[in-house]
Amino acid sequence: MEKSNLLDPIAAYIDGQWTNAKSGATFAVTNPADNRILCSVPKLSGQETVAAIEAAERSLETPTTIEQRSKWLGRLADLVIENKRELGRIITLEHGKPWPEAIGEAEYAASFFRYYADAVHHLKPKAIAGRPRNHSWTVHYRPAGVVALITPWNFPLAMLAKKFSAALAADCASVVKPSSKTPLSMIALFSLIHQLGLPGGKANLVVGSAGEIGDVLCTHPAVRVVSFTGSTDVGKKLMAMSAPHLKRLSLELGGNAPFIVFDDADLDRAIEAFVLNKFRGSGQTCVCANRLYVHKKISGEFAKRLVQRVSRMIVGNGIDEGTDIGPLIDSGAREKVQRHFEDAISKGATCLAGGTSALSKTQKELGSYFPPTILGWVKASMDCVNEETFGPLAPIIEFSDEAEVVREANRTEYGLAAYLFTADNVRAERIIAKLTFGHVGHNTGTGPTAEAPFGGMKQSGFGREGGLEGLHDFTEPQSVPTP
Ligand code: NAP
Repeated sequence: MEKSNLLDPIAAYIDGQWTNAKSGATFAVTNPADNRILCSVPKLSGQETVAAIEAAERSLETPTTIEQRSKWLGRLADLVIENKRELGRIITLEHGKPWPEAIGEAEYAASFFRYYADAVHHLKPKAIAGRPRNHSWTVHYRPAGVVALITPWNFPLAMLAKKFSAALAADCASVVKPSSKTPLSMIALFSLIHQLGLPGGKANLVVGSAGEIGDVLCTHPAVRVVSFTGSTDVGKKLMAMSAPHLKRLSLELGGNAPFIVFDDADLDRAIEAFVLNKFRGSGQTCVCANRLYVHKKISGEFAKRLVQRVSRMIVGNGIDEGTDIGPLIDSGAREKVQRHFEDAISKGATCLAGGTSALSKTQKELGSYFPPTILGWVKASMDCVNEETFGPLAPIIEFSDEAEVVREANRTEYGLAAYLFTADNVRAERIIAKLTFGHVGHNTGTGPTAEAPFGGMKQSGFGREGGLEGLHDFTEPQSVPTP
């Protein structure tokens, strides 16, 4: 791949040093836009993961001050913004999303470093009012300890920024394990972290086999928190593995977001919000709408305008100017979308826009592309309604009344994000209170922000990222009474 000042060296990072695998093993990173190998990355073992954990544990012997951590976080936010174009290019090369969108991801990542640079001041010791039990009480917010941060490929930079910013603010020491599909964005971020001059072991990066590294992270006694973003299946495995060691877990897992449009909604606004929400990252975001519930009085008009809007979208290589939708992460991801599409068609749905016939010959041959696709006449029994598609497939389901749509929206094991479009604020308040999702957009398709807690209900996990709640996922409050 073309040289990058942020990928020099392409290596793991342990105890403040760049490092290769002792075995010399490597694995390849591929560009999903053309299936070319970008470069190879060291494949670390369990033994090297232990070395990273031990370095992290040593670093905790010297606590750092709130002021120092605030400076590091602020500086990191600046560095990410200064390098956002190159970080974006690296994200696009290994993930496939359009370059401007990837730059947006870098900005989003920086917003977490910026937010916690300020919010870290909330960790000052707190005096409790009055003299309960006839004592003065002080609450100290101690670091939880060594924390394992395991992240997915869909936001290769931002998912880690959310965790690492809060962990560093809390004075924890991190061992980071990114997805093997997108390790380069993380190596690039570590080249910026390296410039901060953190104490050795405060931030460590291990790359390689998920099973081997994950086993060590979930079983090593020094690791006190496992913070994981990824699929519900892997989250459950990590939870089972961590249970005998009573590690604290923060699990940000899968979603199946309903997007509900009532007949009094501003249709153009709802459609624009839907398109931005649904097709970001080719539909591979945990908060993207998976099911589109439209009131039957407006479903025909809504579908017509949505099809017109989607037909203007350009599918292509994310690095090319003008691309709206890049490839999916790999052919396996495309096959899942194809399976949901075929299941729906075989059970009576209609393809209103997209489908694989909308791709060019080359895109079909490359194997990872799927165009933005709209399905009509979708029924509750179809796989695309019941499973997370994680791709650019939008199934429209008609509904008649409020009780029905609330029941259907909640009829999922997931509880991450939901969206509601109605001009009636009283109705919105009533419905939002009944929706079992951690994030509910009212007349907006926007996702999370650094300032507010974000996380799931039910099988979308537990714990929160962003806001003070996200910070406290990495602290141990210690109460000290004195006479
Ligand atoms: P995944 O397969 O669960 O992988 C996530 C991470 O876990 C990767 O780093 C992966 O490493 C690692 N991993 C896999 N098996 C492991 C094991 N046995 N032990 C330890 N680590 C292991 O998920 P994904 O396909 O990357 O991401 C897509 C999923 O993430 C979707 O379900 C999406 O909804 C969810 N997600 C949720 C949120 C949220 O905030 N709730 C945000 C983004 C994504 P390798 O890549 O090296 O295998």
